Amino acid sequence: MRAYVGLGANLGDARAAVRAAIEALDRIEGTRVVARSSLWRSAPVDAQGPDFVNAVVALQTRLDAETLLERLQTIEEVQGRQRPYRNAPRTLDLDLLLWGDRVASSPALTLPHPRLQLRRFVLEPLAEIAPDLVLPGLGPLAPWRAAAASQRVERLADG
Ligand code: ADP
Ligand code: MG
Repeated sequence: MRAYVGLGANLGDARAAVRAAIEALDRIEGTRVVARSSLWRSAPVDAQGPDFVNAVVALQTRLDAETLLERLQTIEEVQGRQRPYRNAPRTLDLDLLLWGDRVASSPALTLPHPRLQLRRFVLEPLAEIAPDLVLPGLGPLAPWRAAAASQRVERLADG
């Protein structure tokens, strides 16, 4: 199955945290990173702290969505994510953006990831690696990218 994961970090060495997480994703059993976006920088949305570093990767995986999400949460914990309060600054956030065309709507697993189509820091890196993607239930990326164009994100030159 093809899955997409969004990465974000805004504490400490955020670029290093994102790069290390991409390597950790590639080490998940039955799973390979088959494409990765540039690193992007975005201002926090509904969150405090310094700018985020964001990226999106495509995975080829034999894991089901629930198991894959558990592995993402383990990587977040291992990389020392602290959650003192809601939307607190975080060392690493891994979101399962898409798992094939699956649509799910439970609190523990919502697919596509909630609000991904509204967030330019997800849409732009996603479009780098999957420009022709059609979001299940939401359609192609282009109109969502146009609608989000006023949000300030920046592709990092050395990303
Ligand atoms: P956010 O990423 O929305 O800022 P969190 O990372 O703190 O917030 O949210 C994690 C919670 O969201 C977990 O309890 C997880 O089960 C739930 N969740 C639901 N769907 C997804 C998904 N597609 N990817 C990641 N977490 C999800
Ligand atoms: Mg998350």
